[in-house]
Amino acid sequence: MDKLVSLAKRRGIIFQSSEIYGGINACWDYGPLGVELKRNVKEAWWRAMTRDHNNIEGLDAAILMHPNVWVASGHVAGFADPLVDCKSCKLRFRADQVPEENLRDHKCPNCGGELTEPRFFNLMFKTFMGPVEDEASIVYLRPETAQGIYVNFLNVKDSSRRKIPFGIAQIGKAFRNEITPGNFIFRTREFEQMEMQFFVKPGTDQEWLEQWREERFNWYLKLGIRREKLRFHQHGPKELAHYAAAAYDIEYEFPFGWQELEGIHDRTDFDLKRHTEHSGKDMSYFDESSNERYIPYIIETSAGCDRTILTLLVDALREEDAGKEIRTVLKFHPDIAPIKAAVFPLVNRDGMPEIAHEIYDIIRPYYKAFYDDSGSVGRRYRRQDEAGTPYCFTVDSQTLQDRTVTVRDRDTMQQERVHIDQVLNFLRDHLAW
Ligand code: ATP
Repeated sequence: MDKLVSLAKRRGIIFQSSEIYGGINACWDYGPLGVELKRNVKEAWWRAMTRDHNNIEGLDAAILMHPNVWVASGHVAGFADPLVDCKSCKLRFRADQVPEENLRDHKCPNCGGELTEPRFFNLMFKTFMGPVEDEASIVYLRPETAQGIYVNFLNVKDSSRRKIPFGIAQIGKAFRNEITPGNFIFRTREFEQMEMQFFVKPGTDQEWLEQWREERFNWYLKLGIRREKLRFHQHGPKELAHYAAAAYDIEYEFPFGWQELEGIHDRTDFDLKRHTEHSGKDMSYFDESSNERYIPYIIETSAGCDRTILTLLVDALREEDAGKEIRTVLKFHPDIAPIKAAVFPLVNRDGMPEIAHEIYDIIRPYYKAFYDDSGSVGRRYRRQDEAGTPYCFTVDSQTLQDRTVTVRDRDTMQQERVHIDQVLNFLRDHLAW
């Protein structure tokens, strides 16, 4: 993790937020390469949801919502983690993350000091809407994007004339005042979720849950994540949220252990029922095919964008023995790599820089590209390896004769020659979009 955090900073992937002021705990900023990586992850997810399926619509709901949304959802009453404090070292832990014997003996896992009894702590950030800071003007920063989808169920269904089964997909920020944030961008207080809520007929929910959990698992494989580092975790009766009929987590083996990457839950009719009760608006559905009226069941697929990025970084980072030195390489799937192509003149003379610029200008409008003419070509390849750039095009003396350039593959380090006119086609053949 230390290597990853320092590489991420050095290469402009992720910086600590407000670093010049000493930073703020568990908030991170995406730099020039990080922002490209993040856009690619979101694009891959958005395409998987709204292009690969013909029954999923998109949505972008506001972060601030009517406070009663969070009463209906149960977050005001129950979105709390039990918390224990150490009276000596003052560290604070989530009770469910402290080993059972420590909890029983009130013994701090860090210093052995005395732990307090668990207290409940609401994870929602509060703020005030309008000029008066009183109880009546409290609003919350949404702790999940899902509720924005549920409250828009009727709007989306009616405006897009959808019939059940169909889904609504949304990517957006969520905020949780986490008690124990950490592990870089794994658990932060501000993060982005990629959620798709699929509305189905009661009784067909188990089938859809199975289908979606397979599909979501395969999505991570398609992003190039190693199969052996991924697994399902099925929630046992004790873990299952009160509203859920069944739930699976997709887990990844991080350097700090197996941890949740995405949750796929059968939420039954809990959400639409609650919003019907609290808003007074009937959220039932009339199924013309069976002549029945029912409250749809919801299969939720809830992924973390930042957590996916951490997974991609951890999974891609390799250190390879390259003879005299160690080659550090981010073996990203080409589709999510921040920079798709780098262009180099072998030397800065004989017209090579001019041709390299010409190629760079051909690629630039379509793909994120990088021009580099400083240092030896070997050094330039290494710098692109560290950034995860899959293809490097180099103009050399043969280019001056036949207008072909070398293209070097990041993973195999093999080179082939392509004609300058074919550079864009080469990239189109190797990239999904
Ligand atoms: P945990 O038990 O780890 O707190 P959770 O079960 O509450 O997580 P969900 O509410 O199911 O998480 O959230 C869905 C997804 O959103 C998670 O799988 C994760 O990818 C992402 N996520 C949730 N909380 C955070 C956070 N604090 N920082 C980054 N990503 C998060």
